[in-house]
Amino acid sequence: MANTPRPLIAGNWKMNGLRHGARIQVDDLLERMAGADLQDRDILLCPPATLIDMMVAARHVRAQPLLVGGQDCHTERSGAHTGDISAEMLKDAGCEYVIVGHSERRADHGEDNDTVRRKARAAIDAGLTAIICIGETENQRQSGETLQVLTGQLEGSVPEGADAANTVIAYEPVWAIGTGLTPTVEDVAEAHAHIRETIGGLIADAPMVRLLYGGSVKPANAAELLAVENVDGALVGGASLKAADFWAIVTAI
Ligand code: PEP
Repeated sequence: MANTPRPLIAGNWKMNGLRHGARIQVDDLLERMAGADLQDRDILLCPPATLIDMMVAARHVRAQPLLVGGQDCHTERSGAHTGDISAEMLKDAGCEYVIVGHSERRADHGEDNDTVRRKARAAIDAGLTAIICIGETENQRQSGETLQVLTGQLEGSVPEGADAANTVIAYEPVWAIGTGLTPTVEDVAEAHAHIRETIGGLIADAPMVRLLYGGSVKPANAAELLAVENVDGALVGGASLKAADFWAIVTAI
């Protein structure tokens, strides 16, 4: 068995995509996958909930190991929560993963660490792998609080029972998301080393937990970012919407 984490390249489509155009992109990606040797990495797309079914069907038709995930889940299994979706529903729809605690959810929906922890717990209980997002704001970085913020988010958001199979951590500096800005490779290395060390006290098999970098990853900077120590993959927003760009990132490892 390999003693390093298996790389994961994950795409977060956010609130983008209608069936026709999305199918074209997914088929394009699946065709690229069919012609490549992908034994050593995992590829995941997290579309809006309305496109999960289409994506699961498309990968089945082409018999490709494309993983599919949700972008959020509720803390509860079911109930009176209009507009929400449970981890069990995502699993039932064919998902293997779900993103929790994305900074856009933390900001737009007031999700705190405790909510994120309960969502991650619900995901794990449903048999999904939770991608727990953490990251500092621009103000926090400028005030020199980055590592302290990451520690607090990890301690508050990682549930008991998390392990390398059911949990992925995505480091996404809030100021780098969708802005075209990225931290230096030294800053990414420092943050990821700190995350690795901190989860050592929270997760038994911490060395095997995948740590993704996210925030303006694109074909032009992917190889450099993915080569940083303790970076085991990427969480990609904008550049995951076009199969050609996403593929360039997938193959930059
Ligand atoms: C994201 O939303 O998780 C993200 C990293 O977005 P982008 O790649 O567009 O910065």
